[in-house]
Amino acid sequence: MAEMVRTADYFYVMVPDKPGEGARILGELKRAGVNLVAYSGFPSGRGAQLDLVPTDPAAFKALAKEKKWKVKGPKRAFLIDGDDRLGACADVLGRLAAAKINVTAMDAVAPPGGGRYAAILWVKARDVKKAAAVLGASVTAPDLFDTHAHLHFPEFAGDFDAVLERARAAGVRRILTIGTDVPTSRAAAEMAARLPDVWAAVGIHPHEAAEADDAALAEIERLAGSARVVAIGETGLDFFRDLAPRDAQERAFRSQLALARRIESPCSSIVVTRTKTRCA
Ligand SMILES: [Zn+2]
Repeated sequence: MAEMVRTADYFYVMVPDKPGEGARILGELKRAGVNLVAYSGFPSGRGAQLDLVPTDPAAFKALAKEKKWKVKGPKRAFLIDGDDRLGACADVLGRLAAAKINVTAMDAVAPPGGGRYAAILWVKARDVKKAAAVLGASVTAPDLFDTHAHLHFPEFAGDFDAVLERARAAGVRRILTIGTDVPTSRAAAEMAARLPDVWAAVGIHPHEAAEADDAALAEIERLAGSARVVAIGETGLDFFRDLAPRDAQERAFRSQLALARRIESPCSSIVVTRTKTRCA
């Protein structure tokens, strides 16, 4: 196919229609490290509307909240990337016209000499699904945060890069990798320090509770002070598999809850019932 079409989350910000407003918003995005894949600004009503397609919608939303911008969205836009040729946009619009889909707006640019063009296109929300089918668009998954992974475990060492790649391609934007004892907590913290979309939790799993002596807990506390360690865990009680004595499990769990409280860290805990273990 001549075109790659995908959907993307876009947001719009209403600003006064006066010089410097686009530069102000885009300058804030630059300072915060929020990159865009598309941008369009135009007068609307008595103000101006800035349409923004961030590569990381969650980071954009966090910044917009912090800056108290008047943001609408996320809504869906189509991003098109194709071979530059006579009538490229006419073909795209022709397919939508044949399906009786009205186009709200479309902007396209072909950089000189590049042989490629790119476009952004909007339809009404009710037509997004139909337009995606007509254009053969891959629908981008919503942003995902995998809050419970053990990415640093040796099982992943063989094809670690491929695992991470697949997660990112599937829309996983953030991963919390969780230690289960001192060595794996150390590995989790080291991994988080290396990878921008991975954070770590450090702790001692109930199965390892017998090892949770003062030295081990002190090391967990030290690791918890690392910049990208954001939670204590994996901890809790497992009276189903009972791989460690229950009193040791209780002691280790209490110590780690106390640590989480002391350092004001969320406790990534395992929720355990008598009959079933569930990772939370
Ligand atoms: Zn787990």
